[in-house]
Amino acid sequence: MASEKVEVILDTQKCQGYGLCLGSDDVFELDSAANIAHLKLRFVDISRKDEIEQVVRDCPAGAISLRVVQE
Ligand code: SF4
Repeated sequence: MASEKVEVILDTQKCQGYGLCLGSDDVFELDSAANIAHLKLRFVDISRKDEIEQVVRDCPAGAISLRVVQE
């Protein structure tokens, strides 16, 4: 049976290094030299969809988006 996952999409061209995504520190990390976020995890469990949607809203640069994918 197919299960759903959340794919986290980060646009590193838009990221301004504000670090507001680091609350989910298993998903995002900040490259302190370049001051740009990187993904540690691209796919997260569907149970964390609300959390990731909040991060999408919180990012001041609009650099994060998500989509639900079938596994
Ligand atoms: S919250 Fe947005 S702008 Fe800030 S580090 Fe994360 S992705 Fe970059």
